[in-house]
Amino acid sequence: MKLTASAPGKVNLCLFLGPVRSDGRHELVTVFESVSLADEVSLAPAPADQVRCAGVSGVNIVTRTLDGLRARGWSAPPVRVLIDKRIPVAGGMGGGSADAAAVLRMAPVLAPVAEGVIDELAVSLGADVPSQLAPGLVLGTGAGDVVSPLAPLAPHAFVIVPQTFGLSTAEVYREADRLGLAREEADLAGRLSSLRGLRGEADLPFVNDLEPAAMSLRPEIGGALEAVREAGAEHAMVSGSGPTVFGLFHGSEAPALAEAAAARLAERYPGARPAAPVSEEFAAPRGS
Ligand code: ATP
Repeated sequence: MKLTASAPGKVNLCLFLGPVRSDGRHELVTVFESVSLADEVSLAPAPADQVRCAGVSGVNIVTRTLDGLRARGWSAPPVRVLIDKRIPVAGGMGGGSADAAAVLRMAPVLAPVAEGVIDELAVSLGADVPSQLAPGLVLGTGAGDVVSPLAPLAPHAFVIVPQTFGLSTAEVYREADRLGLAREEADLAGRLSSLRGLRGEADLPFVNDLEPAAMSLRPEIGGALEAVREAGAEHAMVSGSGPTVFGLFHGSEAPALAEAAAARLAERYPGARPAAPVSEEFAAPRGS
C-alpha cells in the first residue's frame, strides 16, 4: 500500500523571543499557521528504509524520524519515503519539520505506534515538529514545542515570497542575541496572556522579533518586505528565522488579492505565490 500526505509549511503570524533557558534554547511565544504551500510526502514498500528528497543534502530529518520510530518498536515493513520538496529549504517555513510530522501522521496507518511515542519523538526531532503534527492555527510556547490549537481566524490569504538564499536558524538566533533582541520574562508572560485571550485577528500582534536579526544578516530582506507592502498586503513579515517573506490579506476578497500580488511580485521574486491557511483535513494521510 502506498500512503501520501501533504506536509504544509508554516508561517509565524507573531513570534516573541524570550530569555535563553537552561538548555540553551530561547523561550518563545509564537502563533504558527499552516499554509497550502506544502511538500508531498509518500511512503511505499521497499527492500529497506530509505528517503529521497531532491534539493536537501545531509542527513534528512525524515531518516531520523524513521530511525526514531524503529527504535521505539514500530514494526511496519520497510518503506521508501519520497519527498516532493516545494517549501523553501532553510526558509523559516519549517519544511523539514513538516516532512517529519507528515511521516509521524502516516506511521500509525502502517503499524501500531505505542501510546505517547509520536508526541515524544516529535519533540526530540525538533522544536517545530510538534506544531506541525496537527496542522492549523497553533499557539507555541516553551521553545515553540509546547503547542495548543487556536480557533480559526476570519477569512484571510497569503502571498509567500521565497528568497534565493537560505538562513541557518541557529545563526539567526545568534544574531538576535548579538543584537540583544530577547524580551524579559515578564514581557513574554504578558504577550502570552494576551494571546491566550485572542478573540480574532484584530487582537493579533503581527510582530516577529527575529526579523531584525534576519535582516541584519541579509539586508535584502528589507526590499522584499517593502515589495510585499507595495503589492497591497496589510502586513508584511519574515516567517520564523527567515528569509522567506509573506504578506497577509484579510476579507472575502483575500484569495484574489493574494493571487494578484503574487503575479506582480513574481516578476522580481520568482517563486512568489499565493497560499491559503489549511487545517488537519488538508494534511490527512491518503492511501492508494
Ligand atoms: P525552521 O523554520 O523549522 O527553523 P527552516 O524552514 O528554516 O526551519 P528547513 O527547510 O526545515 O529550515 O531545514 C533546515 C535544514 O535542515 C536544511 O538546511 C537541511 O540541511 C536540513 N534538512 C534535513 N531534512 C530536511 C527536509 N526534509 N527538508 C528540508 N530541510 C531538511
